[in-house]
Amino acid sequence: MNIMRVYFDNNATTRLDDRALEEMITFYREKFGNPNSAHGMGIEANLHLEKAREKIAKILGVSPSEIFFTSCATEAINWIHKAVAEVFEKRKRTIITTPIEHKAVLETLKYLSLRGFRVKYIPVDSRGVVKLEELERMIDEDTFLVSVMAANNEVGTIQPIEEVVKIVKKKNKEILVHVDAVQVIGKIPFSLERLNVDYASFSAHKFHGPKGVGIAFIKKGAPIRPFVHGGGQERGLRSGTQNVPGIVGAAKAMELAVENLESTMKHMERLRRKLAEGLRKLGAHIITPLDVSLPNTLSVSFSNLRGSTLQNLLSSHGIFVSTSSACTSKDENLSHVLTAMGIDRRIAQGAIRISLCRYNTEEEVNYFLEKTGEILSFLGINENNRR
Ligand SMILES: *Cc1c(COP(=O)(O)O)cnc(C)c1O
Repeated sequence: MNIMRVYFDNNATTRLDDRALEEMITFYREKFGNPNSAHGMGIEANLHLEKAREKIAKILGVSPSEIFFTSCATEAINWIHKAVAEVFEKRKRTIITTPIEHKAVLETLKYLSLRGFRVKYIPVDSRGVVKLEELERMIDEDTFLVSVMAANNEVGTIQPIEEVVKIVKKKNKEILVHVDAVQVIGKIPFSLERLNVDYASFSAHKFHGPKGVGIAFIKKGAPIRPFVHGGGQERGLRSGTQNVPGIVGAAKAMELAVENLESTMKHMERLRRKLAEGLRKLGAHIITPLDVSLPNTLSVSFSNLRGSTLQNLLSSHGIFVSTSSACTSKDENLSHVLTAMGIDRRIAQGAIRISLCRYNTEEEVNYFLEKTGEILSFLGINENNRR
């Protein structure tokens, strides 16, 4: 009997693309020079570092001088929010965000709120989409930064970023906008070229690149200050020897992630639809708004079964999914995202998140549905007591 290993947790992290790994190995084994060294090996490493930066900039539709490498998206997010807050500290104090951001944003802003900044949260509707009229109403004289994610990691909801930027800049073009774009690469088309945002954050390990590489986009002229101080790498803004193998792998992975995006999206969407239909038949409640979400993300709930219980049982069958969020809100263990969406408590408690990637197959989807059906029967959660 072959035991399958089904990885359905791609919004948490992804498998490194073999072709990215292949490129990286050379930079560990042979071209391992410090890109900041003045000798041949340093120059060689630097050349590849800058090539990677150019590749990423081109894909994102920006200039290479606007791309900075960090250790992860969390670092990029901390850096941008804290630096911008420091710049405005004496003049303005209000930051606007959403209640469904990743903890990297929410916790950074909580830290800033303890230091005298005011954080306002744009309400979201039941799909998790920000209410644009509310945003418009919230922006005031004291606002200097608006931070909204491009797509949510838990339920997959895509935000109307273009409209958000338009509303903000129309009110006051001095107000800066940050986009947490970690979840969109390789899932939906995304370009910074005409978006008019000032900052954006990305993470290589979310698009089949290596762990340990974050990418910060900082628009030319947008205020910024160094966060990690030291040898002055990354134009004096982010010191520390660059992770050349990781960065080369990140650029390769990003290139591969957008290469056949159309067909990747179709593939994931097809599997997701099959999962949604199959799970609905098993009595699941579909949380993800299928029409405004990433094609790879499906949040579902069996309201009479805890998400963590189902996660554990699936795990024992070699199937790996996430509960709605590892990061939970105060009491109850309820996800802050589902709470903000106004999802019923019982449904929120039962939520699991399935997140696909281009490597997942129909066979895996069938296996998942079969095992989930077996688990539900085993627990006595069958057709008859399904509500
Ligand atoms: C994973 C994730 C992050 C954090 O990325 P790391 O590189 O792991 O620090 C931030 N935002 C979103 C939306 C994410 O999904």
